Amino acid sequence: MTKPATPATEQDNKPSNFLRQIIENDLAQGTYASRRWAGSPGDAAHHAKGEPDPAKIRTRFPPEPNGYLHVGHAKSICINFGLARDYGGVCHLRFDDTNPEKEDTEYVNSIIDAVKWLGFSWSQPGNYAAYQASDYFDFMYRAAESLIEAGHAYVDEQTPEEMRVNRGDFSKPGVNSPFRARTPAENLARFREMRDGKLADGAAVLRAKIDMASPNINMRDPAIYRIRRATHHNTGDTWCIYPMYTFAHPIEDALEQITHSICTLEFEDQRPFYDWLMDRLCECGLLAAPAPKQYEFSRLNLTYVITSKRKLAQLVNEGKVNGWDDPRMPTIVGLRRRGYTPESLQLFAERIGVTKSDSWIDYSTLEGCLRESLENTAHRAMAVLDPVKLVLTNWDEVMGADHLEPCTQPALPHADEGAEVPTRHFKIGKEVWIERDDFAEVPPKGYKRLYPGNKVRLKGGYVIECTGCTKDANGLITEVLATVIPDTKSGTPGSATVKASAAITWVGVNDGLQAEVRMYDRLFTDAQPDAGGKDFLAALNPDSLKVVTAYVEPSLANVPAGAHFQFERHGYFVTDRMDHAGGKLVFNKITGLKDTWAK
Ligand code: ATP
Ligand code: MG
Repeated sequence: MTKPATPATEQDNKPSNFLRQIIENDLAQGTYASRRWAGSPGDAAHHAKGEPDPAKIRTRFPPEPNGYLHVGHAKSICINFGLARDYGGVCHLRFDDTNPEKEDTEYVNSIIDAVKWLGFSWSQPGNYAAYQASDYFDFMYRAAESLIEAGHAYVDEQTPEEMRVNRGDFSKPGVNSPFRARTPAENLARFREMRDGKLADGAAVLRAKIDMASPNINMRDPAIYRIRRATHHNTGDTWCIYPMYTFAHPIEDALEQITHSICTLEFEDQRPFYDWLMDRLCECGLLAAPAPKQYEFSRLNLTYVITSKRKLAQLVNEGKVNGWDDPRMPTIVGLRRRGYTPESLQLFAERIGVTKSDSWIDYSTLEGCLRESLENTAHRAMAVLDPVKLVLTNWDEVMGADHLEPCTQPALPHADEGAEVPTRHFKIGKEVWIERDDFAEVPPKGYKRLYPGNKVRLKGGYVIECTGCTKDANGLITEVLATVIPDTKSGTPGSATVKASAAITWVGVNDGLQAEVRMYDRLFTDAQPDAGGKDFLAALNPDSLKVVTAYVEPSLANVPAGAHFQFERHGYFVTDRMDHAGGKLVFNKITGLKDTWAK
């Protein structure tokens, strides 16, 4: 069964947008109430045999399987699947594989994974697989013949150059092709010769017969079929003619009984042809009315990010990043490996909303959504990313030689009251790792951490008083020295007796674990790296990846890959999906606790 519509209250919490208004209006008017659904895509006769469609609306996400999906596609996925979910509908995953040259099963699988990972499903009774546009080639061919028979299409044999010139331009109307006056019978015969391989690639095209003087150039007899001898991954060598995208896409929508066909703004000028084609094919009874309608929204532009497939491929091919799933890539596999969660991407899509005006979304919005999604769920841990050893010189004397004192901290400090929160366990001893910049021999103004004579708390441990440091021959600090003040352990009655000016994070030398931490930052230093034809490679951030050897607390000993943490004071981190294994700890930095790029 299709999922029931979200109760009104939950819908009311979501900010409205023009697409929601259109859908709510259609539902109120019963625009699509008469539709039938035969359980699978098909023409008017097929659906007439079906039941009233149990899905109140049908949307679709129609990627071309020619690359990895990116954050812009995530927006489109969240919009289409989200609307179907919220209004008791179904969203179809459809591979738009009508172009024989470009498909690859590697991409098909990665798209399936990406949609599932984002938390969506396209399955419905009787259909659990994704749809493939190439399964509709037979129907598309039949639709083309019926257009020809009705006098709405003709075979044009002008050269591509003649066609280009005769199309005119914005200021000049087009000129009719000398082949435009062919009779339906002549066109039908010639079109069949195209299909049967009697004509060379490019020797002829089938064109819709609309209006060569239309102010919309897309309506000047657009090509709808071309000859192309290419082996298709699904249909092999069955066809040597293939439909053009603008012809194929509306038909795919109609066969699948899509109600709201949502796409990005660059297709706005194609909408009149979409409607023209639907009208013609409903008129002759091939397709079931009411036909789907196309709606456009503005694509996602995200600062510091490139979403052009071609340019992303260039980053991979030229070795600027380590593959499509490099954690700096805006691909869904990259974002996932970086540590972005499905919730954070859904929240992001909701927050940026849907509009028809082009705008840029600041990258910090995406990072903010990640912080919100992890704030109350990612377990806390201490990690020292730039370690220097701190020696508690009086430890053996006051605590006992080689004594290790157990300490605990909650994994989630701000959990709801009564919620069960795991406790982290670690030990403090004579030596601990601290951050190098938590010590200053000569403190800058306002510095509250370790400097000779100052007292700080080792978080979850004791208050200590700094006494100095030791250095090597080059003047580099090798050890920070301090004394421990007994009876000040966190959580004991004496903890408040001595005032500490700050609490610093640390990891025990005895029980700390070594970890590789990949400190990722934005891939570009320019907010709009490819705007206005700029060379985006010139804007690559040389510091987008720094690998450090860190120490982390022992509670992280056996965490699985893909687990999220907040390293206190440092930000959000995730264990790497690929390399964190076999006792090797590898963490990726997702983002800091605050936006460090804000001006
Ligand atoms: P190509 O340039 O290769 O066609 P594309 O980015 O349009 O690439 P498709 O696979 O055709 O990729 O896109 C699938 C769907 O995702 C389309 O409906 C498209 O409109 C949408 N989409 C693509 N890029 C964005 C973006 N930046 N923001 C929102 N939606 C997008
Ligand atoms: Mg596209």
